[in-house]
Amino acid sequence: MKTFDDIVDFHGHSCPGLALGYRVSSRAIKEFRGRSGDEELVAIVENNSCAVDAVQVMTGCTFGKGNLIFKDYGKQVYTFIKRPSGRSIRISVHWKKPAESEEERKIWERYMKGDRSKKVIHFIHNRKAAKVSQILDADETELMTVTKGKQVLPPEARIYPSIDCDECGEKVMEPRARVRNGKLLCIPCFEGKE
Ligand SMILES: [Zn+2]
Ligand SMILES: [Zn+2]
Repeated sequence: MKTFDDIVDFHGHSCPGLALGYRVSSRAIKEFRGRSGDEELVAIVENNSCAVDAVQVMTGCTFGKGNLIFKDYGKQVYTFIKRPSGRSIRISVHWKKPAESEEERKIWERYMKGDRSKKVIHFIHNRKAAKVSQILDADETELMTVTKGKQVLPPEARIYPSIDCDECGEKVMEPRARVRNGKLLCIPCFEGKE
């Protein structure tokens, strides 16, 4: 299994969002025992935060493979579905960040206004690191609500034929092509953006 360090390496920095994604993914892997080699596990993520990078590295559900589905709901909810059984778990994150003291709030305010002095940077860094370790060490019930169930499976990733756009000549996946005045166009050409 991948470690938190592996994920930080992929993501580029350590942050609370990534730590939450790590905990969510670890829970999913525990449930289904193992990573997705091909398409046996599907993840539906309801946000596009740092956490999703952890989901991709940990579970093997990736955007490119088509077994990572993004729903732009802005919610900290992650659903994992096993193919072909349809067995699923839905994980809703309800972690609350620790309360801030008045002094802490003031330093945050300075940071938000652009103060990058040593004192402020040091504080922000420590604060983030504290949140990360709190998340990594927390009991599951402090972080998330897990609901087991069965789900209808989304269709498997399909490979579509490509056509050449009549305007720019670049290849475009057929279902994404648009028609105007009898011409087949890619979306940027259709919308006149390029
Ligand atoms: Zn991050
Ligand atoms: Zn085009």
